[in-house]
Amino acid sequence: MKVLKFGGTSVGTVDSLLNVKNIVDSLEEPGIVVVSALGGLTDGLISTARMAADGDEGFRQSMKLMAQRHFDIINTLVPREHRSDVRQTVAEFLSQLEDIYMGVSLIGCLPDKVLNRIVSFGERMSSIMVANILRDAEHADPLDFIKTNKEYGRDVLAAGQTRKLIGERFAGKLPRTVVTGGFISRDIYTGEITNLGRGGSDFTAALIAEAAGAEVLEIWTDVDGFMTADPRIVKDARVIDFMSYTESDVLCRHGAKVIYTPTIRPVREAGIPMRVLNTHNVEAPGTLIGAEAPAGGSGVCGLACMKDVALILCRCNAASEERMQQLSSLLTKHGIETVCGGRSLGKPFLAIKNADADMAGKVLGDYAGSCNAEGDCMPVFVGDLSMITVVGHGLDNIDGLRDNLEKSLADNDIDMVAVNHSANDNEDFSEFFVPASGSADALKCLHSCCF
Ligand code: ADP
Ligand code: ASP
Ligand code: MG
Repeated sequence: MKVLKFGGTSVGTVDSLLNVKNIVDSLEEPGIVVVSALGGLTDGLISTARMAADGDEGFRQSMKLMAQRHFDIINTLVPREHRSDVRQTVAEFLSQLEDIYMGVSLIGCLPDKVLNRIVSFGERMSSIMVANILRDAEHADPLDFIKTNKEYGRDVLAAGQTRKLIGERFAGKLPRTVVTGGFISRDIYTGEITNLGRGGSDFTAALIAEAAGAEVLEIWTDVDGFMTADPRIVKDARVIDFMSYTESDVLCRHGAKVIYTPTIRPVREAGIPMRVLNTHNVEAPGTLIGAEAPAGGSGVCGLACMKDVALILCRCNAASEERMQQLSSLLTKHGIETVCGGRSLGKPFLAIKNADADMAGKVLGDYAGSCNAEGDCMPVFVGDLSMITVVGHGLDNIDGLRDNLEKSLADNDIDMVAVNHSANDNEDFSEFFVPASGSADALKCLHSCCF
């Protein structure tokens, strides 16, 4: 059995859905198909909700357009014998959605739990449609088996319950094809609809692959595979044929948006190989993600870019690990997530999201006061940066690579605010922090230094 996940880029239009149909209908083994909402729909559901909350009457028209997109697809692709049932199910979802938008517009605010309900309609509608477009397919409701609970106010996966429920739902002989929606979930205690975070359909697919014992997880998208850099920025980026779980995890964690980061853990733990494939070019072999790179080997795998980061930098080498730990837990206490941490030229740093800059500034002020740090030992804050990361294995064995990377930034007049070379716990990478305005140039320059 395999699990195949089709993202919004694969289920956005009639043509791309026909490709999905060709791929799944020709499977020779049972397949569990996980789909996202129609391409761009989750963004549309959110922006329409904001319009309604802000008193912008345009939400009505926006809602109509979203509805029409679904009906156009149903009318073109769902076989006649199921068409009216599917139309009716989708119409019922749309009518619930409309009621919620009206409510939001009346009260003029958009609580998180209402937004969670709103965005859930994307996958609820697309999965019913796809189940009726594919041959001999059954529909499974993800709200029955993907469960979350609240931790410090955030919805996090209820891993044990989810694994058990998936195991039960997909036990025994599977039908030819089962289609389910990605991304959405239900709170195990309150029953409220929640989700796994933006891009979370990849994660749903990995959880199902792990708990249902799939032989492979296929992530079908709109590019020929995991590439050496974001192809929208680096035109000569190439497809990576093979990469290890660790390399993919590090790339995703550092901003490679092609796979949602939490996806890697379940497949890695279960030793399930993962393939990234192109729905619009089925001939392309794609990228295989699997076992770790052989010890002693070396090579650059790819580069990732994360925008909108900020740094908290200590200027003296003496700042102890303990101090950084204290600072990091203080940030966590204030709801500020640390993106990563390390040492740049011997001096410790923490990277956070730029959006947390104001709060971090206050935390930093309090911290400096409490530990009597002054002068050079007072940590400084640098905002509006991008982090470009070169990821691979055995990077220290590649003659002069790390020095050449730094030199190529300098040669191209790109200011390097901080750099962190790391080869710990199997993870081998170099992070470069550059001003946000220079991030595309830095990515291109570092990419051409590596490939
Ligand atoms: P989906 O709807 O299939 O989940 P996403 O938009 O989430 O698609 O991810 C696919 C997109 O990720 C591609 O269209 C590509 O532009 C972008 N991308 C960013 N970095 C990479 C990378 N390193 N390799 C491949 N694609 C990347
Ligand atoms: N539809 C959701 C999103 O746009 C989940 C996904 O596509 O993976 O974030
Ligand atoms: Mg995605």
